[in-house]
Amino acid sequence: MNTDYNDIKNRKAFYKSKQWRMIRLRVLKRDNYECVNCRKEGKVTLNRFDKHKTLDVDHIKELETHPELRYDLDNLQTLCIWCHNKKHNRYQKKINKKRWTDERWD
Ligand SMILES: [Zn+2]
Repeated sequence: MNTDYNDIKNRKAFYKSKQWRMIRLRVLKRDNYECVNCRKEGKVTLNRFDKHKTLDVDHIKELETHPELRYDLDNLQTLCIWCHNKKHNRYQKKINKKRWTDERWD
C-alpha cells in the first residue's frame, strides 16, 4: 500500500477517488465554505451560493511528502483558488531556483 504520490498518475487517481471526494466535502463544510487563509486576513470568500467552484481543499503537509496524512482532517484546509495558486507558485519558484542553482554549479 505504498503509493508514490510523486507520480502524477497516482496523484490524479487519488483526487478522483470516491474517498477523497467525500473527505473534501467534509472539509468544505467544516470550514463553512470559506477560504481559511482569507479569513485569517479578515477577508471572507464565501461561495456557498456560487455555482462556480472557487474553493479548493489543500493538503497543509503535501501529499507527496506526507501521504499518510492524505485523509487526515487536521491536515486539510479550505483555500480559495487564488490562495491555493499563491501557495503553489511559491513552492514551484523554490524548486526552480534550486534546480537553476544546481545546474549553475554542476
Ligand atoms: Zn483565499
